[in-house]
Amino acid sequence: MKNEAYKTDMNKAEIEDKVELFRETFREKGFKITPQRTEIYKALLKSGDHPSAETVYERVKEEFPDVSFDTVNRTLLTLCDVGLAFVVEGSSRARRFDANTNEHQHFKCIKCKRILDLHHRPFENIPLPEEVESGFKVLRKSVYVEGICNKCLQDEKAGTK
Ligand SMILES: [Zn+2]
Ligand SMILES: [Zn+2]
Repeated sequence: MKNEAYKTDMNKAEIEDKVELFRETFREKGFKITPQRTEIYKALLKSGDHPSAETVYERVKEEFPDVSFDTVNRTLLTLCDVGLAFVVEGSSRARRFDANTNEHQHFKCIKCKRILDLHHRPFENIPLPEEVESGFKVLRKSVYVEGICNKCLQDEKAGTK
């Protein structure tokens, strides 16, 4: 592995649990479980940087040089369909994916395009309007913050002095 900086702090056992859930979910929904698809999910799980399909493709290619971009892209979208991952909000131009389905929020830097995880309890407890609470089933709720990150602000400062 050349670049370890993007890795999540998920340990081996946690990854194995998630992969087991992936197998169960795919089996239940009637999707084929292939070594490539498993590796695509693993690559996303291990990525803490909310990678695009292109980036996941680059990472999976290290293990499976023959994998096609189309397979990676379609598998990522399937993972989203079955609830094992989702497309990060505000990333319309190049979709960015996240396999961390625990409740958390995102900060996106408009300059370097980094997407950072936030964990802020009050955001998780934001009440929903009555008509949503009573008549709808909520699967996911998100708070998305956009701005300029600390690194880029420092670079800006350094550039003007
Ligand atoms: Zn930035
Ligand atoms: Zn995230």
